[in-house]
Amino acid sequence: MTAPLDFFRYRESQLCCEKVPLADIVARVGTPAYVYSAEGFLSPLRQLQRGLESVGDFTVCYAVKSNSSLAILKLLADSGAGADLVSGGELFRALTAGVQPNKIVFSGVGKTADEISSGLNCGGSGIYSFHVESLDELDLIQSVAKRLGKNRARVAFRFNPNIDAKTHPYISTGLKRNKFGLNRDELLEAVRRAKSMDCIKVCGLSIHIGSQLLSLSPLKSAFASVAKVILESEEILGLPLEFVDLGGGLGVSYKSSGKKPPRLKDYTALIAREFGKKSRFRSRLKILIEPGRTLSANAGVLITQVLFRKSRKSKDFIVVDAGMNDLIRPALYGTPHEIVPVFKTRKGATLRRTDLVGPVCESSDCFAQDLRLDQRLGQGDLLAILSAGAYGMSMACNYNSRTRPAEVLVDGDSWRVIREREKLEDLIRGEHF
Ligand SMILES: *Cc1c(COP(=O)(O)O)cnc(C)c1O
Repeated sequence: MTAPLDFFRYRESQLCCEKVPLADIVARVGTPAYVYSAEGFLSPLRQLQRGLESVGDFTVCYAVKSNSSLAILKLLADSGAGADLVSGGELFRALTAGVQPNKIVFSGVGKTADEISSGLNCGGSGIYSFHVESLDELDLIQSVAKRLGKNRARVAFRFNPNIDAKTHPYISTGLKRNKFGLNRDELLEAVRRAKSMDCIKVCGLSIHIGSQLLSLSPLKSAFASVAKVILESEEILGLPLEFVDLGGGLGVSYKSSGKKPPRLKDYTALIAREFGKKSRFRSRLKILIEPGRTLSANAGVLITQVLFRKSRKSKDFIVVDAGMNDLIRPALYGTPHEIVPVFKTRKGATLRRTDLVGPVCESSDCFAQDLRLDQRLGQGDLLAILSAGAYGMSMACNYNSRTRPAEVLVDGDSWRVIREREKLEDLIRGEHF
């Protein structure tokens, strides 16, 4: 479990990422800018890897969609991570960054023939597994593999255990009303069908029941229920499966105070109990997990600059230069991020009720309501929107024809730009008039 200020700390009243003052970075790259801590990604990765070592063979497949910048993918791949993808674009990114194909899994309900073909072709023998979510998809993989002359397309079936992850409805994926995965009957039917297909090799099962889970209990039920379906599938196949992919979804803390999400070591202990040496599987299955947010959320912040203050009787509005196109989570899910000034509020400052809003022409372009901020905070002052490493830049768009922010990666006392701020020409690339 990580918290918003684990990798960002005040040093002599200046907010720093690791050892670098954020103000120094934005003096060079401007605002808005995403700033990431390398340690912020690597520390939870190492904790998960350590926890899984005792379970047996494993791969941590980082969920690329949570933050898909090449430098981040490379950083994680260099520390042993694989990748969990949901599109051909993410496959292209992962391969470009140097992720090994045999550590790549491909999830998602709508893979196209082209995407399947890229997955089968990469690195010669293809990716580690296609996580199949429908019978139609299974048929398509068989036919694409046949056309390409690949006789062992590795697949797993994504099981939908009909478990309520008790999270925001937009990020809940393991209920039967959700579009994801196969229920038990559909899954066993798929296993039967796959058994007679000459280009398919069924290697495992996968689950992923939702995101930002704040309790282990839905995961515990999901693990127990996939364990049963593994045994049933093996019975049909007459062969043992190679692996189980337990998905991602573990929550992080978006507030320095408040309800704490599960600890990573309790999560890996739960995995050990169901699949480890002392379980009925006796560590015979390779374990895959697909953490996204767990690795990226608290590794990044979005730095923004105050443009204007508007004072009303009841409260003030501070308009900043970052908008919902840069970080859509508050507008999309109503999730407030913790927001702190880059230069610590001085003692005795008068605080005023303030809404922090962006410049985009939508009322939902609001990062936080009723913050208590120094009433002297004004034009040019810098704020850090915390816990912005996951589903921040990867969901950013160009709405209102706004250029997307720069990204910076800090490692100890050094830092570098890992993505240039977009230029106006980037906004019209590919257009004809
Ligand atoms: C999004 C996603 C993940 C990662 O979810 P987090 O909540 O970021 O950990 C993992 N697996 C699949 C299949 C996903 O779609």
